[in-house]
Amino acid sequence: MIIMKTDATQEEIKQVINEIKAYGLKADVSKGDYRTVIGLVGDESKIPFSHFATLPGVKEARTVEAPYKLINREYSKEFAGETGNAIVKVKGVEIGGETPVFMAGPCAVESRDQLMRIAEESLAAGAQILRGGIFKPRSSVHSFQGLGSYGDEGAREALGWMREAGERFGLATVTEVRGEAQIELAAEYTDMLQIGTRNMYNQDLLIKAARTGKPILFKRHFGAGIEEFLSFAEYMAAEGNKNIVLCERGILPVGKGKNYTRYTLDLASVPAIQKETYLPIIVDPSHATGRRDLIFNMSCAAIAAGASGLMIESHYNPAEAVVDAQQAITPDELEEIIRTCREIKKLIGRRRNEKN
Ligand code: PEP
Ligand code: MN
Repeated sequence: MIIMKTDATQEEIKQVINEIKAYGLKADVSKGDYRTVIGLVGDESKIPFSHFATLPGVKEARTVEAPYKLINREYSKEFAGETGNAIVKVKGVEIGGETPVFMAGPCAVESRDQLMRIAEESLAAGAQILRGGIFKPRSSVHSFQGLGSYGDEGAREALGWMREAGERFGLATVTEVRGEAQIELAAEYTDMLQIGTRNMYNQDLLIKAARTGKPILFKRHFGAGIEEFLSFAEYMAAEGNKNIVLCERGILPVGKGKNYTRYTLDLASVPAIQKETYLPIIVDPSHATGRRDLIFNMSCAAIAAGASGLMIESHYNPAEAVVDAQQAITPDELEEIIRTCREIKKLIGRRRNEKN
């Protein structure tokens, strides 16, 4: 990491970038209100930091120890505002600020009517972002794979409903991309791309999704440690896309726990991750628990843990949902959760976990 002096000139910044390139690395330039910080993408051991420290306009040149350097809090401290937290904007919705953000919608988009009704009711309940799966990752090939599996036409039709619902109800939209072939299509129709738990390690998918420049909702793999999770988010930051929202969605349960919850919601990861990175993190209590009767409590707990928002599966008639019916909640339950979580957030106020 090369920290420039507050009065460094454009020429001096350019010289540092050129030298970084001469060593075979890429430069990641972050311009803050006061100073510019240049991150390094590539093998830092090739960089003579003592030489860089002597270049004109350079205040300090040093290595960042963690494997995730560009999304490291240490890096943002030098250029971000007072809090050092990034705010990711999704069609005007700010994630990572003072107020929590709520994403809701069906597990799978099933029909135009289904989506419009859920969108309308989610908005009325207080949600700002509509979720809906069109390319569904499923454990069984015999299960419904999402409308996106019915060829390009089926995918475009369902994605078109997402766009229509977003426009009609003033909601931002997010949908999962399961493979590289779906990225451009999903980016054309929706405001945010979701990378699901099973694809957290898929470097090529991450890189291609990041290159669209769209905000990314990045879910932790159910078997991934925090360092791995952040290290794979770094792949997207290295493509110049730092509009990343992390999502804790539960890790593999142990022993007999499996019979009680679908996964184990790792809530301590929320403040732990906030200490490491300036990226916002939200929680998905739906996939974490797999049980609608646990969603209210785990939603409250997630906001109390410092999450910047929630993603919840909702349906006007949960029993009717083709996918994940057992964890979907009604619009009334969603409204109660959002109202309560907003109160909890107010109680916590400006107290930030990373400052504890
Ligand atoms: C989803 O959000 O639709 C989903 C499949 O979640 P996950 O990738 O966390 O299982
Ligand atoms: Mn689901």
